[in-house]
Amino acid sequence: MGPAQRHIPTRTCVICRNRREKDGLFRIVRTPEGDIVFDKTGKLNGRGAYVCKDDGHWDDDVYRGKLQAALKIEIDDLTFKLLGRAIISHVTE
Ligand SMILES: [Zn+2]
Repeated sequence: MGPAQRHIPTRTCVICRNRREKDGLFRIVRTPEGDIVFDKTGKLNGRGAYVCKDDGHWDDDVYRGKLQAALKIEIDDLTFKLLGRAIISHVTE
């Protein structure tokens, strides 16, 4: 018997459009209440968008534009800044 084929779930990054294993991605969620949050657990309800863990341009309007398109919602300056801060502090934990 050969080794069982391991199923590795992959997702597409909304910034660079590369497919990656979920481990290499962060999930950002637009909650049913319309908040934009960093989903540490990957289990939050809402519309999710995946971004590479190493893409991190949290001061970049192009990055924000792609995230807005993926989540179909406007992301204001403060929300975008707080989102970036949450992710950066998670990375450096
Ligand atoms: Zn990417």
